[in-house]
Formats: sequence, C-alpha cells, structure tokens
Amino acid sequence: MRIQNFINVFHGFMQYVRCLPVAMTMLILFPVQAYAQETGAPSLLLHAARVFDGNEMHTGLSVLVKDGRIARIGPRHSFKVGDASTDIDLGDAILLPGFIELHAHLTFQKVPADIVLRHGVTTVRDVGGAVHQPYGGDGSLRLLTSGQIITAPHGYPIVTMGAKDLAIPVASEAEARDAVRHLIGEGAVVIKIALDAPWSSHHGHAHHDTAHTVPANSHHHAHGVSHDQSAWPMLSEPIVRAIVDEAHRHQRKVSAHVAESSGVQIALNAGVDEWAHMPCDLIPESLLKQARAQNVTIISTLDTLSKCSGIAHNAAVWAELGGELLYGAEIAHPDIPWGIDAQELMYLMHLAKMKLPDVLRAATAKAGQYLGIPLLGTIQPGAPADLIAIRGNLEQQLKRLEHPDLVISGGRIVVNHFGSLP
Ligand SMILES: [Zn+2]
Repeated sequence: MRIQNFINVFHGFMQYVRCLPVAMTMLILFPVQAYAQETGAPSLLLHAARVFDGNEMHTGLSVLVKDGRIARIGPRHSFKVGDASTDIDLGDAILLPGFIELHAHLTFQKVPADIVLRHGVTTVRDVGGAVHQPYGGDGSLRLLTSGQIITAPHGYPIVTMGAKDLAIPVASEAEARDAVRHLIGEGAVVIKIALDAPWSSHHGHAHHDTAHTVPANSHHHAHGVSHDQSAWPMLSEPIVRAIVDEAHRHQRKVSAHVAESSGVQIALNAGVDEWAHMPCDLIPESLLKQARAQNVTIISTLDTLSKCSGIAHNAAVWAELGGELLYGAEIAHPDIPWGIDAQELMYLMHLAKMKLPDVLRAATAKAGQYLGIPLLGTIQPGAPADLIAIRGNLEQQLKRLEHPDLVISGGRIVVNHFGSLP
C-alpha cells in the first residue's frame, strides 16, 4: 500500500517536473524524503555488547535503523555521531531480532496483540481463526493467518469447539478446492488442515480446550472424550491431495494438525508440507524418516504438549534425522505466555539437542525465511527493523526473553526499559 502510494505520488510529481532543469536533483532527493515522512519513525543507532543477527552471535556491533528497516550493521567505530537522530547505548545487553511465532490462535481466542508484541514476539502466524489479510509490523504486531482450519464434516476441531470462525467442513475434493481458493483470496498465507484421530492421547489435553485442566498421558483419556474410534471422521487422503494440489497452485504450503500415526500417514501420502505440532503420540521411526525424506517442516509446540507420551521420542528422532524444527509455542493456549515462551526454547535444547544459537535461529531468521518475507527475522541491511534487547547475558537467563527490555517493531520503539530514550 505504502509503495503503491509512493509510486502514484511519484508519477504525478514526475509529470509536473518533466520540463524543469531541477528534475535530476529532485529525482535524487524526493524518494528519500517522501519515504521518511511516511514512516514517521526516528532513525536509531543501537549499540550493544552482543548482537545475534538471526544467524550468528557477534560482539561489539552497532545497528543503524532508518525508515523502519535495518540500514547498516557494523563495528561501533564505523558509525559516527549524527548518523541517526537518536543514539541508544544498550551497554551489557544482547540485541536480537523479534521472535516469530508460527503456531498461534490469537484471533480466535481474542488475545491482545499489543501484549504479545510487548513480550518479544513481533510476528505471529495464526493457524486456525478468522481469515484476514496480513497486517502490522509498523509499531504493531505483524499478524499473518491461515484462516479457518479445513476439516471433515463433524471432524476435529468442530466436534469439540464448533465451526464458527475456526473451521470449514468439506465433504468432497471440489469443496476442498473451493475452500482453499476462498481462504487464499481472503489473505491466508498457509492452509491449515486437521488430521486428528479421536483416539489420539492429544485429546487428554486438547490444545484448544481452554477449560481443560486434567493432565493426561496415552493410557488415560480425559473426561468427556469418547473411546469410540469412529467418534469423528478425518479428511480422506484424496481430499487432502486435492487441498495440497490447490494450495501449491497458489504458492501456499499446507500445515496439518497431526497427533498420531494415522493422521501422519495421510499427511505424508498426500504431500502435506508441514506438521503444525510435534505429534503427541509416539510416531514410528519409519514415518519420521519418510517425513524427513519429503522435507516436512515441524512446528515445535513442545511445551504445551510436554505431557504427551511421544513428544520426547519424536523430537529426539526428528533432531537425529536432521529434520527442520521451527519455533511455535501455541500462544493463546492456556499454558503458554502471551509472548516469547522461554520454556519452549528450553524444551528444544533439552529434547531436540539444539544449542542456543540453533533455537534462536528457529525463532528468527529461519522462521522469517520460511514465511517468505525477505530478511524478516534477521538484522541485515534491508530487513524489517523488528528488534528486541535483553540486559545481561542470555545463556544464564533465557527466561528474561519473556520480558524484553527493548522492543522495536518496524523501527518504532514499543518497549524501552533502558531509560533516557525518547
Ligand atoms: Zn493449535
């Protein structure tokens, strides 16, 4: 929108100045001024003892933010006073990209976006909720969505939570293709489907069930959950194939809510790109190997599913296979903080044997690249200036990520506990 406005204004302006001798000068000056006026954010020069740029940890670097983007990153001495309207010395702190949460239900559960942003998550991908175009990233939370979950009539999650603003039932391949096209037309960045069997132990602590309080494991179903294996239907493999084909025609990936082997098998046979969770039940190694061979990406959500019988095994095998595991904590689940979930990072380190830089990458640069937004989740020239800073050393205090001392979205300061700043 902003770029289109700029192009329109610029074209009008060029008609006006076409014959003037100053045209060449204006050509050079005008775009910069117009852009700066439109973003309205001050330029910032940030100095921090440590910078994680989305890929690697550095020391002694400074970051220049202009017009809502990273303009330059380099040694402190390479910048001079006056490069930015505001200089901020963060001192003994770590500066890193804002976190990207790939599995949330903000809209459906009405979680306030500004609280999530203030707690370090600058981009959220909602997977299951009302559909809308992507928005934000300019001092407000950047919010992308899958829109409603495509599922079988009376299937999960309709059977437990109803369909309103949450799910679209489809009974045929034609209906499935229509649903995919409708969602993409309304702004869906990914297509979410449910392949969840009623006998999965996942339903002992169903992730959307906000009233649920009973811990469970694979041998113990929660109250109110039927043991009848025909209690609700799943999408058939041909319908899932149609969904994947239609989504891929429109350059969208398909993410499946899977919790046990039969759903996983359908997802694999139909070519589903992503599992929205690490499955709750123990998945045979042969299926995980097949998923790895098909380049499936798994969104972690290990914290909220940590009581599941299969989580530790699945995460360990997946890590051993070198499978892609990206950060998602399922914000809006009652167990999960409305922002960065440090516990999720600890589970990734503990169960998937990832090192600190690995888990930070999975929540920043890798996730941004996965979303296809250029340079999102990095601190590189041209990247959206979504930044957070934490005082002290991160290794000893991961939990502090949940309450960042500085949050910047699109170059605008949202949280600042460093004092003496504008
Ligand atoms: Zn979910």
